Amino acid sequence: MKYVGPHVSAAGGVENAPVNAHKVGAVGFGLFTKNQRQWKAKPLTEKNISKFKENCEFYGYKPHHILPHDSYLINLGHPDKAQLQKSREAFFDEMKRCEQLGLDRLNFHPGNPLKKISDEECLKTIAESVNLALDRTHGVAAVIENTAGQGTDLGYSFEQVKFIIDYVKDKNRVGVCIDTAHAFAAGYDFVSPEGYEKVWEDFDRIIGLHYLKGLHLNDSKKELGSRVDRHNSLGKGYLGEATFRRIMQDERLEGIPMILETPDKELWAEEVRMLYGYVHT
Ligand SMILES: [Zn+2]
Ligand SMILES: [Zn+2]
Repeated sequence: MKYVGPHVSAAGGVENAPVNAHKVGAVGFGLFTKNQRQWKAKPLTEKNISKFKENCEFYGYKPHHILPHDSYLINLGHPDKAQLQKSREAFFDEMKRCEQLGLDRLNFHPGNPLKKISDEECLKTIAESVNLALDRTHGVAAVIENTAGQGTDLGYSFEQVKFIIDYVKDKNRVGVCIDTAHAFAAGYDFVSPEGYEKVWEDFDRIIGLHYLKGLHLNDSKKELGSRVDRHNSLGKGYLGEATFRRIMQDERLEGIPMILETPDKELWAEEVRMLYGYVHT
């Protein structure tokens, strides 16, 4: 089973996310557990937590159907000590919030050396940031999202993602989420049948499929290798319907959340329906 659904709004409280997911027929969903553009957030209340769990239970969402996303401000590979510390505290807070909600994974963007340190040093710093967060939390895995490689963003190649994993001590609590639009923009060809096969063979050889803890299903407004991160609705970009049909029929990709971060929320219900329709057609 594939757990497909959009990254939904948690406006008014995290407990609203499962309700919003159910409204569009989602079987899985993504969410921010706090405002993604602010450093500080009010702690989750007992009421937020119990309502969230109650709503998930009511609509049948289990932790492994859900892929929370951390704040865009966090840079776990920041070259500046004080800024790095700020990011590490914010990441710990995000991991803690997931733990409180009973969730088992948190998706994050690796980091950026900002032209101040080498890529290798930045990747090691990211791994150390993950180690520190894992030491202070329980039961939540840190899930590295591949990037489009925009500017000097790291994590655009499978090798870089693997490099981080190699330096994470607890291999049971680290994973990977592949964003299809990011991978395509970074030069991974999902579109041709041979290209599609090669992407997953490379992933398995370099990283290992057992590390795959989620997918972000997005079409791309930008062409292969553009290094530009612009999501499109499914079937409306360069990846096209055929790519998403392949994904939905791919038996290697079972048991994980598959989150839509597509721009038109009016289409989400239809996109979810369309994806499940591909399973047998
Ligand atoms: Zn992301
Ligand atoms: Zn994504």
